[in-house]
Amino acid sequence: MRKKIVAGNWKMNKDYSEGLSLFSEVLNMVKDEVRGEQQVVVCAPYIHLHSLSALAKGTNNVFVGAQNAHQEASGAYTGEISTGMLKSVGVEYVILGHSERRQYFGENNELLAKKTNTALANDLKPIFCIGETLAERESNQHFDVIKTQLAEATFHLSAEDFSKLVIAYEPVWAIGTGVTASSAQAQEIHAFIRSEVAAKYGAEVAENTTILYGGSCNPGNAAELFAQKDIDGGLIGGASLKSRDFVDIVKTFN
Ligand code: PEP
Repeated sequence: MRKKIVAGNWKMNKDYSEGLSLFSEVLNMVKDEVRGEQQVVVCAPYIHLHSLSALAKGTNNVFVGAQNAHQEASGAYTGEISTGMLKSVGVEYVILGHSERRQYFGENNELLAKKTNTALANDLKPIFCIGETLAERESNQHFDVIKTQLAEATFHLSAEDFSKLVIAYEPVWAIGTGVTASSAQAQEIHAFIRSEVAAKYGAEVAENTTILYGGSCNPGNAAELFAQKDIDGGLIGGASLKSRDFVDIVKTFN
């Protein structure tokens, strides 16, 4: 059975003490709620990762993730963080391909393919983001964009390695805008992603691939989105910054 995940992406928010408080509140509220194939992942800025991993250790199904990592294993890359460093402080997941990284830091599919390889080599699980812009949707290119992002950044992987990825469908027009994809729009793309994975890796890999929805997901719309057949949870930005909202989204899991 595939994993069901609610992942928070704090982006560049929360100083050290604010982050500790937020994570502690979330942990206290979710640790007895999340079971079986369900997981909660909190993707925080680097300064938090060591402390949050220590807090999450020994809890059931709560993990810490980073929001980026470098494509090289080590070296003269001032200011960067390697996947091995992340692993060494207990990080389990890393977001790759977020639209903000693509837009503001020029990350393209070729670079993201390298980052994916390096993350997997260090036993980090990528939460790999794909999604179309508003202009691409309005010109009916959204299926092609998704197909290309998947193919160029992830389809070089072996089936075994691809199975370690979590895919997040994040329409760029829905991120941080308050505009959510309708559950029908999201389900349509999720089903398409699963069919692309099936065509490349076979039905079993596709059935076991966790595909998250991200884009203005909140306690009011999560239940309907997560009830869709091919939506296995969410990647949550703004609503992950308030413990009550994030936990309410976690609780819609079932
Ligand atoms: C995100 O940044 O991944 C995201 C989905 O943000 P928001 O929930 O704020 O739209």
